Formats: sequence, C-alpha cells, structure tokens
Amino acid sequence: MSATDTVRVAGNLVGGAWLPAASGRTLDVRDPADDRTLVGTVPSMDADDVARVYTAAADGARAWAAVSTVERGRMLFAAATLLRERADVIARLLTAEMGKTLAEATGEVNKAADFFEYYGGLGRAGRGELLAHERADVLSWTVHEPLGVVLAITPWNDPLLTPARKLAPALIAGNAVVLKPASAAPLVALELARCLNDAGLPPGVIDTVTGQGSDIGDALLEQPALRAVSFTGSNAVGDGLRRALAGTDVRLLAELGGKNAAIVLRDADVPAAVAAIAAAAFAQAGQRCTATSRVIVERPVYDEVVARLVDAAEALAVGPGAQVGTTMGPLVSPAQRDDVLGFVGRAVQDGARVASGGAAPNDEARRHGCYVAPTVLADVGDDMEIWSEEVFGPVVAVTLAEDTDHALALLNGSRYQRTKTVAIAS
Ligand code: NAP
Repeated sequence: MSATDTVRVAGNLVGGAWLPAASGRTLDVRDPADDRTLVGTVPSMDADDVARVYTAAADGARAWAAVSTVERGRMLFAAATLLRERADVIARLLTAEMGKTLAEATGEVNKAADFFEYYGGLGRAGRGELLAHERADVLSWTVHEPLGVVLAITPWNDPLLTPARKLAPALIAGNAVVLKPASAAPLVALELARCLNDAGLPPGVIDTVTGQGSDIGDALLEQPALRAVSFTGSNAVGDGLRRALAGTDVRLLAELGGKNAAIVLRDADVPAAVAAIAAAAFAQAGQRCTATSRVIVERPVYDEVVARLVDAAEALAVGPGAQVGTTMGPLVSPAQRDDVLGFVGRAVQDGARVASGGAAPNDEARRHGCYVAPTVLADVGDDMEIWSEEVFGPVVAVTLAEDTDHALALLNGSRYQRTKTVAIAS
C-alpha cells in the first residue's frame, strides 16, 4: 500500500493504546504539493487529554527505569530495524505531509534509524564513574539516573529526524517521553512512536500529543510529572518556554533558529564554493536551521558567484517531492510560502535585486502547491531585514565585501550566535 492511497485517521499513543481526543476533534494534515489534498487527520487534544497522557507517561517512567540499559538498547535496535523495514511507506508519508523530496525523506528515515542504533549501543556503555577516595575500603561512584518524564516538542522541517534524535538519548537513559510533534507534519512522528511501541517498549514509555501548540502549550508544561523539556523550533516559542519554566526545577534544552553565512574570497575555487552553497541553501527548500542564507563575496569574484548561484538555482527541478526528477519540493504550507514571499517582497523594497526566482510558480501543475522558486537576491545590504532575519525558505542573500576583515565583520554582524562558515579561502 502506498502511504498516500488513503486518508490516514491517526490516533495518539497513550499508555500503549491509540486514542482519539476525548472531544473527538481533529486537525487536518494537507499535502503541500497540492493543498487541496488531505493526507490525514490527527487528534486535536485539549488540556484534559494532555493530563491523561502524563499519567500514562509517569507509569511508563517507573516501569522503564526498572529495565536494564542493555534491554532498553535491544528495544531501540528493534525500533531501528522496524524503521528500516518500513522506510518506503514512512518516507512517502513524510513527503506527502511535509513536501521534501523522496530522496531527502528516505535519507531522513535512515538517519533516524542510525540514531536509535547509536543510542541503542550506548545501552552497553558505562553509566557512571568510579571516583578516587582517600579510604581504601570505601567505594565512591557516580550513577546516571533517569529524570522521569521528558517532553519533546519538535518542528515540521525534519519531522522524523528531530523526534528521533530527542527520543533515542532520552529513552536509553531510562526516561519516558511525551512527544508533541508539529501540527503541519505530525504523521511520521506517530509512525516513529508506532515503531517503538511495536519494538516492545512498555506502555506509557513513549506517548504522543497532537494539537495546536498555542492551545495546549501551557497544559504541556503545567504537569507535576514533568522533569525536562527538549525543544526545537522558533526563537519566539523557545523564549516563551524559557519564561514559563524559569524558577521551576524543569530542565530546558532549546535549539532555535539560525542565519548561517558563507564567505567566498577572491582566491576561492568559485565553482566548488557555489556548488556547496547552493546545496546548503536550497536542500529541503531551505527549510533547515543549518541552511546557508547569507553569502558574503569579495569584490573580484562577486559577479561570477552571483551568476553561478543563478545557474544553480535555475537548474533545480521544482515540483512534487514524490515525482521522479524533482530536486526541490514545495514549502510546508501556504502560510510558510506566503511568509517567505513576504520576506522577498520587503527585500526588494529595501533595495535588493532579484537575480533569480523571487516568486511562486503559477503554472497549472504547481498553482495549488506551496512552491517558491529558488531565489537569489543580490546587492543585499547588511541593514536590510533579509540580512538579519531567518527566512526558512529557498532564498539566499548575497552581499559584497571589500576584504577579509570586512567579510568577517559582515558574518559576525548577526544576532544569531550560531553561524556556520563554508567555502572560506585565502
Ligand atoms: P515553532 O513554530 O516554534 O514550532 C515548533 C514546535 O513548537 C511545534 O511542535 C509547535 O506546535 C510547538 N509550539 C508552538 N507554540 C507552542 C507553545 N506556545 N508552547 C509549546 N509548544 C509550542 O517552529 P516551526 O515553525 O515548527 O519550525 C521552524 C523553526 O524551527 C525555525 O526557526 C528553525 O530555525 C527552527 N529549527 C531549529 C533547529 C535547530 O536544531 N536549532 C532545527 C530545526 C528547526 P504547532 O506546530 O502545533 O504550532
């Protein structure tokens, strides 16, 4: 059966059973390649549903803490095997709900399995340390103990991989996890929970909650059993979590947005640099926190870099992720497409030049999809919004540097601390 033959009516995994919301309310999941197509529905849970999930997770945490780390590791390996066996169906579902190409989705399923194998192996590693002590007859040691119930909140751009890299370490350490996937692409996260459940995890060790984060965010945090939150997503939601959890004993790990830059100096291997930058800018239609979205180019190679970036952008085949030959899929939703086009429009108003793309394809085949043509904006100034704000789409902003010091100053002139430099040569 193909993942997209039927509309999936998914439930949430709660205490080992698949349940709807008590209210019966659901959220629609649509295909970004054609927004008229319903891929599936998931429960729209409310605060009472969330409380029930935590009751199940607290029971799961107690049971799981009593399982040896070696046995936990075996179950993570079993889950990895199930992910690989189900890779075709899961990758198709991922493409159908999120839009990335089938090749990207297949890579994501395999990487998710890698995480479970890596952390499954840690089930046989040490989980503490023997410490030196001044008395010969005294043993002194540290032991790693589970925290209890961990909440994982994940975004839609890697809707399988991000849950996987949160779940695998939390589970091998003996925690139960409540997983809240993004509403735009929750179905593959539920399939991941299914793999773990089928791999033999005791009831309650992995539980899922679907529903709009803005509606159930408070309920997710206000739970006595909650010990830690692992969040990946936007700066705005991350800041809200920091504020909400300040002064509590709940630990918070927050991975937030990015505005990564590449520098190309005059003596760079320009074709190699542009190939690396284009891949980093346009993979997954730029919807990656590690996407290269700013390019700083020294004057002697500026025109060549812009021209080659335009060629690379125009060589991409933009279409449905499941279609053979597509090299860039749609964005995740109409809202994301409109958001990205808004950034481009304001950049042009600010004085940037559209060297390529800059619009949504309007032909019949793609009119109902969430497409944005791969976009190269040249002559961008460092005072423009497009230079400083995360776009999260297939848009690369190019600016001119006079020398290396100027290039580094441009690179560091960003409020995002986490920048990545590629293709720097001198
Ligand atoms: P988002 O809007 O922050 O949503 C992320 C998750 O938070 C979703 O599950 C969302 O649920 C939930 N959420 C929303 N409001 C909430 C609230 N008040 N309380 C609790 N949870 C809430 O981010 P996104 O648009 O999905 O993802 C894009 C962002 O993620 C970008 O900024 C990107 O840079 C960042 N990201 C960072 C990394 C990294 O490793 N640093 C990796 C990938 C993505 P709903 O979907 O129901 O709203």
